[in-house]
This record gives sequence, C-alpha cells and structure tokens, in this order.
Amino acid sequence: MNYLKKDTKILCTIGPVSADSRTLKRMHQAGMNAARINTAHGSIAEYKKIIASVRRAADIPIILDIKGPDLRVVCEKDISLKKGDEIKVGKKCKINLNFDIKDKVKKGDKILIHDGKYCFRIISKGKDSFTMKACENCIISPNKNANLPGKVLGLPMLSKKDLQSINMAKTEKVEYIALSFCRSVDDVENLRKKLKGSRIKIISKIENHEGIDNIEEIIKCSDGIMVARGDLGVEVAQEEVPILQKKIIKSCNQKGKLVIVATQMLESMVENSNPTRAETSDIANAVLDGADCLMLSEETAIGKYPVEAIRIMSKISLNAEPEVDIDIIEEEAENTSELISHSVHTLAKTLKINKIICPTYSGYTAAKIARFRMNIPIIAITSSDMIKRQLMLYYAIEPINYKSNFWDHPIIKIAKYLYKKKLIKKDEKILFTAGLHVKNGKKTNTIQIHDVEDIIDYF
Ligand code: PGA
Ligand code: MN
Repeated sequence: MNYLKKDTKILCTIGPVSADSRTLKRMHQAGMNAARINTAHGSIAEYKKIIASVRRAADIPIILDIKGPDLRVVCEKDISLKKGDEIKVGKKCKINLNFDIKDKVKKGDKILIHDGKYCFRIISKGKDSFTMKACENCIISPNKNANLPGKVLGLPMLSKKDLQSINMAKTEKVEYIALSFCRSVDDVENLRKKLKGSRIKIISKIENHEGIDNIEEIIKCSDGIMVARGDLGVEVAQEEVPILQKKIIKSCNQKGKLVIVATQMLESMVENSNPTRAETSDIANAVLDGADCLMLSEETAIGKYPVEAIRIMSKISLNAEPEVDIDIIEEEAENTSELISHSVHTLAKTLKINKIICPTYSGYTAAKIARFRMNIPIIAITSSDMIKRQLMLYYAIEPINYKSNFWDHPIIKIAKYLYKKKLIKKDEKILFTAGLHVKNGKKTNTIQIHDVEDIIDYF
C-alpha cells in the first residue's frame, strides 16, 4: 500500500525516538507529511539539528511550534505529594512556574498540572510566592504544563526564547510557525510583523477561552488553525472539545483555511502496538469533519511505536476519505479564484475528472479548491520550493515544483511534463485551472478539461 497516496496529511512531532534521519525516512514512507518541533523542550541548537535531520530525510514542511503564554512547571526533579499537602510556589521554592502569576491569582483559584491530571487550590499568598494545596496524590515533574481554566492572565505572548526561535525559523527557512495559545488577531499580527521578510506561514493554535471567543477573526487572519485539544480540554471543558472541533473545522473549510486536529489521536500507542477502537473512530471522525491534517504528539516524539502509529493513522484516513462529504455554502465570492473553485467543484462532480491541475503562485487557488474535499488529487504546480512544501499540509494537494516558463502553450507543456513524470496517465481526464500570465505582465484565468491522450499528442 502506498501510504503517501492518502488525501489526509499527517503531522508528526519529532522527539528523542524520531530525530534521526533513518527513522524519519521510515516515518515518511509510512505516511508522515510534515514534521513539528515542539519548543517546549530542548534548545535552539537542538532544533537546528532536528531541522537538518528532517531536511536530509525527506522533502517535507517543518512546523516550529513556539509556546507563547504556555504556563509550565519549573522544578529540578519529580516532586511527590499526598492529598492535602501544601507546597509553596515561587522563585526560591522547590517548585516555580515559568511566568510570575502571583499578582494575577487569588485565594481559591484552581491550578491544573500535567494536562489537567492533577488539581491544586491556592490557599494563601505571600510576598514572593503563593501556597497551593494538592487535591489528590500526585507527582509533579519538571516542565509539565499548568492551566488556570478560564482565567485571563495577560501573560506576554512571546517569551525571550520564542523570539530566539522565530529568528532561527527565519534563518533556517522553516515553512510554518505554530503560535500556541493564540488569543486574538493582535497576537497573529504581532507575529506576522516579526516574520516580515520571510515567507513563513502562521498556524494559530486554539487552546483557550480567548481563542474560542475570537475564533472567526483569528481564522481570517491566520494561514491555518490547529485545534489543540490537549490544552483546550483543560482550559475550556473536555466535553465541549468534540463540538468545538467540528465548528472550527467547518469554518476553516468554508474559508479555505488549513485546519489541523491535534493531541491524543493515538495516545495508547505511546505504549501499545495497537490503538483502541475509540482512537480509530476519533481519527476517522476528524477526517469526516473535514480536517486537512492530523497531528501525532508523544506517539512519534517519545512513543514506542512511532512508525506503526503513522501507518495506522494512514490506513484509517484512507478508509474514511471516500465518505467525506463537506457542504460548502455558496456565499458571495470574495474574488475570481473563489468563484472558479466553485465551478471546478461543479464540473468535477458532473464529469469524471481524475486529476485537477493547478499552477499557483501563492497556493491560494489550490487551497480554495481543496476545501471541497472531492477525493480527486489536486496537483498544485509552483516555482517555489517553500510554497510547494507549505502546500503539502493541505488535504488532497500534491504539490510539485516546475520552473519552466508558461508563456506558450502552457497547458500542453505542463501536461507533457506531468505525463513524463507519471503523475497523469493516458486514459485520464484532467481539469486544468490557473491564473495565467499574459505577455504584458497581466493575469487572466482559465478552466479547461482535456483527455490526457489527446493533449500529449498535440505537438
Ligand atoms: P502542545 O499543543 O502539544 O504544544 O501543548 C497541542 C495541544 O495543546 O493540544
Ligand atoms: Mn498546547
């Protein structure tokens, strides 16, 4: 089975079990389409090594995940506590947090540690610290996350380390930055300013109340969205996450924005070689909801079965894809490309089209077509390596790089090239759509449908 032939894309978090090129190659063959580096762990020098390793292993996009106001525990070693134990949190104490939140919290506030696993109550505040009481027996480990559900802490969006990571992302030319705990359009625009001069795209991670409250505006100004279910389930409420997932995906599909579903998709495979039935269903349902891409976290970063997890995710996705049925409502089209994408959809529904061919400058038109989830490969043709890799995250898009000029007979030239590369076959029907450059530097647009055998023998 060719696992890379699926339409759903798989984003894998790289960690100790997967950072070597040999494993990365095997992961790629099993269906990995992109690599995430989580900057919650490790140093800038280590990220550079991972980037080099990924670049050696496969031609795939790299997503650098910066942490924003991600609250984490700072301690030297594991701390065991019994229910009712009290512990001081502050700079000179055994345990601290990576942000000073003392002035933002009050007695009675709840703090959840380790993805909401352990609950604490704040019982008093001192000059440089506060004291919290354990609601159950627990072990606090270094660097575990902490959440104060629903509390607006007003933490700075980009830490010093985030700024260093952003600079590194620019010099290393990674394809995407994922912005954790994105709260508003301002957060996205501030990052956009810092990225000026690069073509890096922004994926906003929705993981708290503020992100949910401003979701429509955040979708509009971001290049992509991640439904970050781990923190979202703690910050909002876990029972709300499945419905929020559906609503966010629907809105992204409507607008042609990239959407990724993340966290605990194959959690049991960190330890086991087979998933639970519930995980299998969760993956299929995320595909049916309309996700472009699914993410693996600990499964591929520290799990025992990174390659198997990807293979299983690929198989579940492949099975679900023919059933995907997304209803894009015809609102007033923003521009010609959007209108054209509707026409492409109508034509592809009526005729038996095998491939959609779409030369694209920014990737915009290809993304608008992909949102219809037509179960037809979309071959996006671009002259930029960066845009090619960025497009690899979108559902059904198979981007390729083609640098020759398109002035004369572009469609025939492209068809011949694709035929030579075995990307289209003689007995196939292709739909070609593009904004083509005409000689005075202006652009025009077209939709053409051809039988491959007619067009490749044209001259
Ligand atoms: P994280 O984000 O893995 O960086 O925390 C994803 C999530 O919260 O679900
Ligand atoms: Mn998170």
